[in-house]
Parts: sequence; structure tokens; C-alpha cells
Amino acid sequence: MSHFEKYDIVVIGAGPGGYVAAIKAAQAGKKTLCIDKAELGGICLNWGCIPTKALLKSAELMHYTKKAADFGINTGAVTHDFAKVIERSRGVSGTMTKGIEYLFKKNKVEFLRASARVIASNLIEATSADGSKKNITCDAIIVATGASPAVIPAFPIDGKNLISYRQALECKEQPKKLLVIGAGAIGVEFSYFFNAFGTEVTIVEALSQLLPVEDKDSAKVLAQAFKKQGITAHTSAKVKSVTVVKDGVIDAVIEDSAGKEIKLTVDRVLVAIGMKPNTAGLGLAEAGVALDARGFVTVNAHCQTSSAGIYAIGDCTGRQMLAHKASFEAEVAVAAILNPKKAHGLNYGQIPGCTYCQPQVASVGLTEAKAKELGRDVKIGKFPFTASGKAQAIAAADGFVKLIFDAQTDAIIGAHIVGIDATEMIAELCLALKVEATAAEIGATIHAHPTLAEAVMEAALDAHGEAVHI
Ligand code: NAD
Repeated sequence: MSHFEKYDIVVIGAGPGGYVAAIKAAQAGKKTLCIDKAELGGICLNWGCIPTKALLKSAELMHYTKKAADFGINTGAVTHDFAKVIERSRGVSGTMTKGIEYLFKKNKVEFLRASARVIASNLIEATSADGSKKNITCDAIIVATGASPAVIPAFPIDGKNLISYRQALECKEQPKKLLVIGAGAIGVEFSYFFNAFGTEVTIVEALSQLLPVEDKDSAKVLAQAFKKQGITAHTSAKVKSVTVVKDGVIDAVIEDSAGKEIKLTVDRVLVAIGMKPNTAGLGLAEAGVALDARGFVTVNAHCQTSSAGIYAIGDCTGRQMLAHKASFEAEVAVAAILNPKKAHGLNYGQIPGCTYCQPQVASVGLTEAKAKELGRDVKIGKFPFTASGKAQAIAAADGFVKLIFDAQTDAIIGAHIVGIDATEMIAELCLALKVEATAAEIGATIHAHPTLAEAVMEAALDAHGEAVHI
């Protein structure tokens, strides 16, 4: 039998968008319920950001252990236990999920494990796994249901032969030969991971470079590094067909950039061609929420949908599908609900992008090509890690820092780093972009020696032709 429960704010989805929104709402004194049919933490904690970083750490360790002799350390033959690598990653994910449980308790957020359906802007029906239903009324709804792997008929993911990141994260058996379709963050990170453990990896990208959203120079260095690592990458290429001959035997035909057909047989295919929104069956359209042609929720600058009282944040709204974007949108949506007069937006041009293969790739702001396309008059400063004492000392000389400045104002408009710790180093440049720091200011900021971050200072100096170490 159904009954009614009343909350101020109900958040649908407990990923980095939803759980942050729920905590922020509760911290503001709102009676808050978060509903999710799966584990707390969403893709990020369970099947994305966190477990992949655990896997990638194992891959880095493998890489370093194999090179131990270069550092004067003798190890004997290096072997690995793939199942243990996966097990550790799952364990890390479990610990983080428990952390959200604790935060919900601490902040008095109620959690309901159920499937939610929006009936109206103030009414939700929640169905639990046992089929029992609850009707929940509220003043505002925040939809944070995320996205799932895009599937196209040419590459039917069966979870066994053709897999998505989800199965890649828990595969107990390491593939011997892997075809990766798509060279976005997922394709690139898993290519690095599997290759580090000896899987023969071929990655195919339809566009003209690996990580198409990144600066051309970054993609070039990554392509060189991947080649050195033994990964075969085809860009401006097509996967014409994949045929499962039998379990573990898949024939694929690739058309490379020159139009030449390449035939290969692999034992697994990882499909990483983007994401589709989790908005079907949620009742959104019926509740008056406008969706775009691909099903993403349409929102205004305050994350408000076309139905007053319903907000949407994170991957289900499209734009950059990144956990930190979702968490910041959570703050935007809650602020708009609490006080519409004080509602503010988010600067989508200041969201960093990070890819955690080695060398890592990180960026914030405009690429050189985008700046030029926008007609910006730019000044560019660059510093290679080959000229960094710290990078040489730690055997990580691959990569560079490239900074793009407005030629008139000297203010930074873009930053691109490829290198061992690029994803940590980018934070300084996110702040620089936010406060509109100039090349002169970044160049005059004392950076500790020896650090990789000195390369940021040197790149800024280089924009004025004043770098010291190149
Ligand atoms: P993506 O959209 O970033 O990349 C997909 C790539 O596949 C694109 O480069 C596209 O050109 C290519 N592609 C599409 N169809 C193709 C085809 N038929 N043949 C060859 N190439 C094809 O998507 P993703 O890598 O699947 O990741 C999904 C989302 O998750 C992205 O938004 C990504 O930013 C996010 N993510 C982020 C991180 C991170 O921040 N480190 C890690 C993983 C995922």
C-alpha cells in the first residue's frame, strides 16, 4: 500500500552531483532525501573515477618495477596477479562508498534505495527492489541520474566479448589482445592500463587525434608516448566491423587514415564511444521537463529545467561529463532553490579536464586552436620537462607545460600540461584562470626548486621570451 512522505528537497541519484547536492541542501537545514537504485557514490565512486585510478596506480607500479634496474634496484622477473589488481580496485571503491554513507548520516540526509519516477514537480514515486512503492512529496527535485555507455548497433556490448568500462573494471581475466574503440578519456586510460600488464592493445579513434578535446600538442606527445609503450593507435580511422566468431575470438576490420583495411583478431573489444543520458523512464517529459534530441535534460544557467521546481545537474544535462562539474552544479542548483534572488551560474570555460594515463594529460581553458578560432590574439609560452631538473631526477621527462595568454591583456586563457603529475599541477592554473592571472604574475611567482611546477613559471616567462632554462 502506498503512503505519502514529505521532504523539502529530493535528489534523484547519489553520484558526485546528487550526493553533494543532498549534503548541501541538508547543511542548509532542508529536510532532504536522496534516492538511488544502486550503490551510493554513482559511477564516480563505483565504476569510474576512483576504481580506475586504483587500477592505473597498479599499472604505474608495474611500469616502474619493470624499469627498477635503471634506478639501481634489482627485482628478478616481475610478474603480476591480475585478479588481485582488480580486487584492490574494488576494495578502494567499497571504502569510498562507505564514506558517503557516513557523510549522509553526519548531515542527516536520508537515503532510499529505490527507483524514482517523477510524477509532477512536487511528487515522486519510488519503487524498491521488492516492488513496494512510496509516494514522496517535496518542494523541489534535483535530477542527478548521470549517464551510461552509448551503444550503437555496430558494436553491441554483450558484457563478455564487447565490453564497456563497467566490465573492464571487474574483469578477472586479462585479455591478451584488446581492441579499444574511441580515444576519449575512457579509451585512453584503459589502453594504458591493459598495455602496462602486457595486453596487446589497438586503439581506434574516428577523429584526428587521441583525446580530441585536448590541445593538438598534448595529443601529439601522448601519441608518441603510447607508441613507445607499445600501444597501436589509429586516428582518423574507422572500425568497419566487429564479428564475434565465438567467445573470446572477435574478428575486427579497421580502415586506417589512408583508407587501408587492417584485419585483426582480438579476445575482447572495449567500446568507449561516449555516453547517453540516464533520463528514459524517469517521467521527466510527462512532468514538463524539456529534453534535447539526445535525451539530455535542458537546463538554464541555474540548473533549472523547463518545469519550475525541477532542477538537473551532472552528466544527465550533457556538457562536460565530469564529476567535478556535477559537484559544482550541485552547489549552483541548491543555491538557486534556497534563494532564487542569489542564484548564480558556473563558468563552464574554467572546468579542468584530466586524463590519468602516463604521461597524464590535463588542461583548463582554451586550446590554441579554439583561441584562434575565436579570433583571439594569443601569446604562447612553453616549457618541456626535458629541461626540468626534477623531471630528469625522477625519470619523467616526457611532456611539457603550454600556457596561452591574451596578447593584449597578458591574462591566461588556456593551460595544457602533459607529464607525470599533470593532473595535480593543473590546479595552480585553474586558480590562475579564475583570478585572470597574467604571464608576468605567474612568471614572478616563486616556485620551489626542484619541483615539476617550476615548469609552469618557466612557461609563463617563456611567453615574454624570458625563460631561464630553455
Ligand atoms: P568521450 O566522448 O570522451 O570519447 C569518445 C571518443 O570516441 C571520442 O573521441 C569519439 O570521437 C570517439 N568515437 C565515437 N564513435 C566512434 C567510432 N565509431 N569509432 C571510433 N571512435 C569513435 O567518451 P568516453 O571516453 O567514452 O568517456 C565518457 C565520459 O566520461 C566522457 O565525457 C569523459 O570525459 C568522462 N570520463 C572522464 C574521465 C576523466 O576525467 N579522467 C575518465 C573517464 C571518463
